[in-house]
Amino acid sequence: MSGLKLQLKTPNGISYEQPTGLFINGEFVKGKSGKTFEVIAPYNEEVIANISEAEPVDVDVAVDAAEEAFKTWGHSDTETRARVLFKLADLIEQKTELFAAVESWDNGKTIAMATGDVGLVVSTFRNYGGWATKITGDTIETDADHFTYTRREPVGVCGMVIPWNFPLLMLSWKIAPALACGCTMILKSAESTPLTALLFASLLNEAGVPKGVVNIISGYGPAGAALASHSRIHKIAFTGSTATGRKIMESAAKSNVKNITLELGGKSPNLFFDDCDFDKSVKLALAAIFYNSGEVCSAGSRVYIQEGIYDKFLAALKTEVEKLKVGSPFDKDNYYGAQTNKLQFDKVMDYIQKGVEEGAQLVTGGKRIGNKGYYITPTIFADVSHSHTIATEEIFGPVLAVFKFKTVDEAIALANSSEYGLGSGIHTESLDRAIYVAHRLRAGSVWVNTYNDFHPQVPFGGYGTSGIGRELGKEVLENFTETKAIRIAGILGGRL
Ligand code: NAP
Ligand code: MG
Repeated sequence: MSGLKLQLKTPNGISYEQPTGLFINGEFVKGKSGKTFEVIAPYNEEVIANISEAEPVDVDVAVDAAEEAFKTWGHSDTETRARVLFKLADLIEQKTELFAAVESWDNGKTIAMATGDVGLVVSTFRNYGGWATKITGDTIETDADHFTYTRREPVGVCGMVIPWNFPLLMLSWKIAPALACGCTMILKSAESTPLTALLFASLLNEAGVPKGVVNIISGYGPAGAALASHSRIHKIAFTGSTATGRKIMESAAKSNVKNITLELGGKSPNLFFDDCDFDKSVKLALAAIFYNSGEVCSAGSRVYIQEGIYDKFLAALKTEVEKLKVGSPFDKDNYYGAQTNKLQFDKVMDYIQKGVEEGAQLVTGGKRIGNKGYYITPTIFADVSHSHTIATEEIFGPVLAVFKFKTVDEAIALANSSEYGLGSGIHTESLDRAIYVAHRLRAGSVWVNTYNDFHPQVPFGGYGTSGIGRELGKEVLENFTETKAIRIAGILGGRL
């Protein structure tokens, strides 16, 4: 097929049209430079497609479109916003199998996990469809002769930059609330996973999203940097590493002091007390780190086990993890698939090497599987000390560090010893202990007897170097609105 679409067939046999252009002002266009880049399938390292690459000059064109669209969308009635959000949810839901297959192909995650992601994407659009008609200001009583009220106005043109671990889900967490609030936007997907964002773009016209309201570009860091430093963008919403987050914050400050939200990395603690439900807890400890091949920002990558159950728990972790199958995302027997790109694969293997060199005990795993595709065995290190690199740095792969603790307060201190503060888990049958610990952990999310238990109505975000601001819930609406206070003087002591 010619032009800006390719006729493709996913590895599990679904034929479809893959857009390959930049989606700007309601249509797919080529990047100004004419450059394209290769999209690689991590499951077999083969090229899926070549797609248009955005450069900073394309960002300018997209900002023009978003700025123009904001003149009307920024004042659109709320029911119109609700309608397009519900329609987008329906359209994505109807294509669940296709979105899941393309996400697996591009990212390396299993079809089951990708299907789960699409379900969450659909609920995210539905939730913010609901919110669109419920964003309100206040009236404020100050005295008899003023009328004072606030409005929650859309912040304006937004830049959005997302990572590659949950490409479509991270897109939905930003685009859905921004649409509900009346913003217009330019989203840059991650260079290693641009395909589902472009498929999503192909639904926007049908869903009734006016041209220029949502613009989707693919490309490398410099296109993201151009969004962060653009003087006509009023807000930047970023999800990615802490290192890039720092750069985004600096660019936002140096350009026009734009609003920022940063959803960054983590090294989340998962605490297992002597009285936990043992079998369920072993499963939760494994799912918390190995789900999505460990490429989860809030992965429970530090497991702390109380001394009374430590030996038995560690043995059970080893037995159970060795039953997990890893391999092609298209084989239903596999629990997780490939790491998403070569860079990340190499980074994870380096951390494993470092763990061994620094003296942590390799309990299981630590190896590449096969020689085609980026597959790594589930890896567990025990006897980890907080001086080890693998105890403090985010690995973002299937590598678990296990520690032992004695008392409740020691567990809290160890859990809080990280500069990050994203997720955390508490596993205990004692409600008193759960509440005591939950209120003392420095983390944006605390999961009790569960883990990575996301819901679009529940806010998510980090303390410390895990970020600034919250996504999901009603909290995200703060990110995409400005509060305007309007104070009208009445007769001020005069006579009518
Ligand atoms: P990353 O390297 O920081 O990249 C994230 C995005 O930023 C990509 O689109 C990337 O483009 C772009 N980018 C790179 N350099 C940039 C620059 N100077 N200015 C603006 N944008 C730039 O992160 P990643 O490796 O894709 O993702 C993994 C990280 O994301 C982990 O640390 C993980 O914990 C974090 N994460 C956090 C959350 C959360 O909600 N807190 C959720 C998911 C992931 P390229 O793709 O072209 O490099
Ligand atoms: Mg890819």
